[in-house]
Amino acid sequence: MSQILVISDIHANLTALEAVLADAGKVSEVWCLGDIVGYGPDPNDCVERIRSLPKLTCQIGNHDVAAMGEMPLAAFNTEAKRSLLWQKEQLTPENMAFLRSCAREVTVRGEVSLVHGSPRDPIWEYVLNTLVARLNLNYFNTPWCFVGHSHFQAVFQYRQQDDDFTIEIPKPGTRYEMTDRAIFNPGSVGQPRDRDPRAAYAIYYPKTHLWEPRRVEYDVKAVQQRILAAGLPQRHADRLSGGW
Ligand code: ZN
Repeated sequence: MSQILVISDIHANLTALEAVLADAGKVSEVWCLGDIVGYGPDPNDCVERIRSLPKLTCQIGNHDVAAMGEMPLAAFNTEAKRSLLWQKEQLTPENMAFLRSCAREVTVRGEVSLVHGSPRDPIWEYVLNTLVARLNLNYFNTPWCFVGHSHFQAVFQYRQQDDDFTIEIPKPGTRYEMTDRAIFNPGSVGQPRDRDPRAAYAIYYPKTHLWEPRRVEYDVKAVQQRILAAGLPQRHADRLSGGW
């Protein structure tokens, strides 16, 4: 059965990424929605692991652009900035080149548009509520759009009768039937912000039109220790255990 692994916002957390890849098992493709780096202690390892995945489609995220030095760091808060400066020093030229090669505009794969932020602002806009979802409806032509960036696992479901979206949070491990038009967020692998510290991702079944959000536990302590050992902000370590 063809099934596609959808990941986003890895944020240099290799332990979470490995847990997700192991939990997902055999997949036919991998779609990565960006922010491979930023915040965490393992930027090179994460880029290398992602680069090694077969049948990969990868969008670029705002943290990736910033770590490449292509964006003024003033757009980030002080601690995120500290982390990005550190990551910029760490990243090898090969890994920088890979990040540079990731898509900056919407990528269409079959019936799905892929983007980091939103279809009308692929790198920066957050789809966090139904209003923003509605404002983006005419910026993608496929039935579905997969976004990352907000670190929240969610489905924004379009309802034709109301000409509006609803927000739904399908339970991890259940399969959501994809009908009409909708915007899906797989959540964040390396820094979930929905008060569930487990790594988040999703499986998309293109033939049966199903979306399956998933969560998997990983060794949060080990990542926190590496964050502190690298001299990165304490806050970036603390938030991983609470999922905020
Ligand atoms: Zn992010």
